[in-house]
Order: sequence, then structure tokens, then C-alpha cells
Amino acid sequence: MDLQHWLGRATEAVQEWADTFGPYRPHPSLDVADDRFAPVFAEFTDRLKDNYPFFHPHYAGQMLKPPHPASVVGHLTAMLINPNNHALDGGPATAAMEREAVAQLAAMFGYDTLPDRPSGVGGAPMRSDYAPLGHLTTSGTVANLEALFVARELHPGRGVAHSADAHYTHGRMCHVLDMTSHPVRTDDRGRMDLDALADVLETGDVGTVVVTAGTTGLGAVDPVHEILPLAERHGVRVHVDAAYGGFFTLLAGADGPEGLPPEPWRALARTDSIVVDPHKHGLQPYGCGAVLFRDPEVGRFYLHDSPYTYFTSGELHLGEISLECSRAGAAAAALWLTFRLLPPTPDGLGKVLAAGRRAALRWADLIEASDVLELYQRPQLDIVTCFPATEPAALTAVDAASARVLADGMAAPDPVFLSTLKADRAAFAARHPKITADADGARILRSVLMKPESEDHVEALHERVERVVAHPSAPKESAR
Ligand SMILES: *Cc1c(COP(=O)(O)O)cnc(C)c1O
Repeated sequence: MDLQHWLGRATEAVQEWADTFGPYRPHPSLDVADDRFAPVFAEFTDRLKDNYPFFHPHYAGQMLKPPHPASVVGHLTAMLINPNNHALDGGPATAAMEREAVAQLAAMFGYDTLPDRPSGVGGAPMRSDYAPLGHLTTSGTVANLEALFVARELHPGRGVAHSADAHYTHGRMCHVLDMTSHPVRTDDRGRMDLDALADVLETGDVGTVVVTAGTTGLGAVDPVHEILPLAERHGVRVHVDAAYGGFFTLLAGADGPEGLPPEPWRALARTDSIVVDPHKHGLQPYGCGAVLFRDPEVGRFYLHDSPYTYFTSGELHLGEISLECSRAGAAAAALWLTFRLLPPTPDGLGKVLAAGRRAALRWADLIEASDVLELYQRPQLDIVTCFPATEPAALTAVDAASARVLADGMAAPDPVFLSTLKADRAAFAARHPKITADADGARILRSVLMKPESEDHVEALHERVERVVAHPSAPKESAR
């Protein structure tokens, strides 16, 4: 895709449409001449250089990458019109696009079948008047907030259980919603421990379990299929936080090394709500999360009367089922356009995720064979975690070495960009009992390989990291 060409076409296409409404004079108060714009733009683009090269395969740090060019063009084109998906009147076209894109997300999780029938079993029928409830949000945090709000309305006075490795915002959102949060111990791969969950559910204090399908730190996938029957026995809702990992369901049971054990992913169809962030693994710019409810009935909890919104249609408008008011129609447009080209199917977006996952597995193999690095744990998705082998083998030494490698890696002439993750003492002991626990935890190195290009660069990345580990840079001389 020639981005420059299509960005030009975007402005033309919107102008052609605008011209059909007749000419008018833009107000002089808004005038900005090109010769005034030029130096400010130069300063602006210069300031933007203060960034890490998220686009580049040698950036292997946090969950960051630029959106797909199709998404950029979709976003920008719609943004020139600037529809607001709060209401149908705010932008009928992008509201329709939002519904279609959300339906594709729902189908990806198996939410497109009747709620009382397990999906995929005996080919559960699709009914045209049944559609799961869902919409886009500004972020995964707001999407989770909505799911927990509905959970609270359904189980007033009962709290939320989530794994100790769940996203930190769950504790915060429980506070906002005045619900008690119950962190549940994780096992030696970072997944929610079933016995610990059973103990918490036994108390009767919990109304909802938050299951994480792909933790932000390690990419650990909680055993959704084993948690479901447990939750059912206790009459507890199951909400899945798949903000980061949701699109990996496209690799469930796939052939090849990238294939994932299908059980937890297939079980998603039977959960009560799911959050997924298209701005993480859906090739979108920030400002695109999504929440889905299997039972559309829960829409009643959102009912409100907005004095600002008028109705040109009797259809349910998206603002009626969202806690947020204004939302960018451009975000829906971008997702819709992207999904037309790279749909959330194994042959579409699945191929993008498969490459990153193969890269993670390959890098894990290289680390296992390395003398200077140790694998923290095998990647479950596309997140690689490791730490420098140290002498003595103790947490303080590991922590210091990881911090040094992070800094030296970025400062090297051929830089490599990683991130660090704090692993606590118990988590370390469960995986590496021989390392002396002389601190309450240690930073380790973490790389999210979310760009498919990573596949062609893991050897080079590994070599760079090994070099940085083996050759500490000379201590920086102080100026003069
Ligand atoms: C990123 C993430 C969130 C928060 O989503 P935002 O879009 O950053 O607000 C929540 N849960 C998980 C598992 C995540 O990875």
C-alpha cells in the first residue's frame, strides 16, 4: 500500500463529497498560511523524534507498534468528517461500520451463536434476531470497567476474583465500582491457580471471576475451560480480559509450531463477557478497545436518557449501550477498513500473529541454548522473558544485570530495545529455585514480539542481546 497516495486520495474523496453541499467561505479566524505552518510543523516533527522506533524489528520491548496503513487511511479519512459514534445521528456510516466490525469480533470468539447453546457443538444454529451485545471503547480499561459494572449490577454486594497477574487496572476499577477485589495466586507459568480460585469461590463473596487470556506481563493464558465449570458450580459470572491476547484465538489448534492448545480459546464462547483491544493486536492506533456481552439482555443496565441526543431512527444506538459518551467514529472506520482486508480469521490476522509467535518460540530456543542468558519461562503467546546469567546467581545480581542490559542495549551503536518486568521472589522461586532469593524480587528482560517482521530478526536480536550481556559498556565518564 502506497500510504502517501492513499492519504492524498483520502482528502480528495472527502472533498468530493463535501463539494456536493455547495461552496462556503472558511472563517478568517481559522486561517493558517502555509508559510506560518511550515516552521511549526518542522519543530513538531523534530520533537516527535524523541521516540523509540516502535516500528522497527530491533524494537522488541513493550506492546507498541504503529497501526497498519489501511487503518491509518481509514482513521484519517473518517476523521476529516469526524463522526461521533455516541449516537446514530453522530455518524450513521461509522455507527454501521462499528456494528459490523464488532460482529466480526463476536464471531471470532464464537459469540455469534445462541447463548444457551455451546458453540460449535453439533453446529449450534445462528439466529438472525440474536446478536451479542458489544461496542468499541476508548480502551481496554474502559471496556473492562463496563464488563465489571454489568457484573456488579447482576451480583450486587459480591466481589471480583482475578489472578494476581491480571492487569493492574482490575484492582483500581473494583475500587471505582466499590467492589472487593480478590487476587488469586498464579501457578509456575503465571496462570490462575484453580485450587486457590476454588478456595476464594467457596467463601461466597465473589460474584465474578475475571479470567485473563494473555497476561500483559508474561502472556499467560488462564485455563478458561477449567474455570468455567468451577464458576458455574458457584453461580459466578465469567468475564474474560483478552485485551492483549484475544486475537490469539485465531491460532487455537492451528497446524505448525504457532498452534495453541485449543481448549481455553474454544471455551471463550461460553463465557459471559469478553474484552479485546484492537489497538493492541488488531493493527489499530490507540483509542480502540471493545467489550462484548454474550447475553444482549444486559443492555438494560445502560439505559439512560440523554437530553442532547435526538433520534432519527428507532434503532438502538451505540451510545445507549456504552458508559462513555463521545467516541471516535474514525476508530470504528479504521477497524472496519482493516478487517475488510485483514479479517479476524486464521487466514487474515491469524497469519500476522502466527509470525510473531513463531519468532517468540525461536528466540526462546536460542535463549535456552545460550550461556549468558536464561529463559524465565517458555512463551505461551508472543512474549519472551529471560534474564542474564549472573555470578553470584542471586536476585539482586539478576536485577542489576537486567537493568544494565536494558540501558546498554538502547545506548549501543547497533541498539536493541527491550523492556523489563518485575518478577517477585515467589514467582522466581517457582521457576528458578536455584537462584538465591536475596531480595523481594528482580527485574527480568521482556520482549513482546508483536510485529510479524520479528520473525526475520530474532537471530540478530538474540546476538545483540548476548553481546550486550557479555560486554558491559565502560562506566560513563562524567562530563569533563
Ligand atoms: C492492555 C491491557 C489492559 C488495559 O487496556 P488499555 O487499552 O491499555 O486500557 C487490560 N488488560 C490486559 C490484559 C491488557 O493487556
